[in-house]
Amino acid sequence: MAGMEQPRLHASLLSWYDGNARRLPWRALAGETPDPYHVWLSEVMLQQTTVNAVVPYFNRFIGRWPTVADLARANQDQVLHAWQGLGYYARARNLLKCARLVAGDMGGGFPGDADELEKLPGIGPYTAAAIAAIAYGQRRAPVDGNLTRVLARLYAITDPLPGARRRIATLAEALMPTERPGDFAQGLMDLGAALCRPRRPACEACPWREFCAAKRAENPQSYPRRQTKGAKPIRRGIVFWAVRQDGAVLLRRRPETGLLGGMMEFSSTGWRQTAWTLEEARRMAPVAASWRRLPGVVHHTFTHFHLRLAVIRGRTTDSSPADGFWSAVEKLPDHALPTVMKKVARHATSYPEAGKKAIRRKKSGP
Ligand code: SF4
Repeated sequence: MAGMEQPRLHASLLSWYDGNARRLPWRALAGETPDPYHVWLSEVMLQQTTVNAVVPYFNRFIGRWPTVADLARANQDQVLHAWQGLGYYARARNLLKCARLVAGDMGGGFPGDADELEKLPGIGPYTAAAIAAIAYGQRRAPVDGNLTRVLARLYAITDPLPGARRRIATLAEALMPTERPGDFAQGLMDLGAALCRPRRPACEACPWREFCAAKRAENPQSYPRRQTKGAKPIRRGIVFWAVRQDGAVLLRRRPETGLLGGMMEFSSTGWRQTAWTLEEARRMAPVAASWRRLPGVVHHTFTHFHLRLAVIRGRTTDSSPADGFWSAVEKLPDHALPTVMKKVARHATSYPEAGKKAIRRKKSGP
């Protein structure tokens, strides 16, 4: 793209943004000053999640913790609980760590520089660039999937992803204007979401239609090119739905680090590629019980693998497990359960009749 065209790219996108910007609760309206706390919170929430999914969470967080200092005073369980359903729970833990650092060591203010922002927990290059551009007017390009797609089409980049990411990031940085970089970045985000969609981009309505190389070649949908990747592996596990005599079920907390770190779960075998036998699982049971397998399997997909969980249910009089604690089934929503464990709970509680009979049998004796 000729450098001469850059001013026209800037002007056309900014003017489109002025007339078409999405109204989002974390966005400052024209003439308002963006709130770095709002920008940071929304950008962390938006990592891997859609705008529509984030809006209610954002509003709830802001309602409950109006400032970064308020959030810093929350405890981890409160934040994990409020985060439930957004996934990637390490982000929630880092959110709290970051809030405490900003409210404490930094005196309540986020740093205004992308390189400094990147040193904070949970802030990667994308989020740092987004906050720096939107909240502080730095000339930084937040390159996410939307922006990658728009630029791959604008410049008709034939190198496949992920290899082309570095080149796209360099082009994006070079494209950022000195005037209104925050609005330009948000304009790019909106353009990617509203017009330059993955499928059937609305090129006729696009402010960049006369500059766009992919539009000229009439094949925008073929960008960005991607390296073909292998299928995700499947991992398998068996979950213990342990029920105490009063109906309470056994929960435990996952280790702080790693997948779903710090979240609650029902005890289970490890998650591995080969299937577990019932015998293997019984040897790992958290309490003594007579374990029966429930019909069906719980399916869940993480970023790097698919998970298949069988559920075995056991009733127990052993109320002091080595690991974990008991919760009434109706109190499960009060715990920070990740989506996969909510699926397990739905699955296990969808067979109540067999459970009730089993309790009666146990009470009356064989
Ligand atoms: S003209 Fe079409 S392909 Fe090109 S940037 Fe606009 S919407 Fe995307």
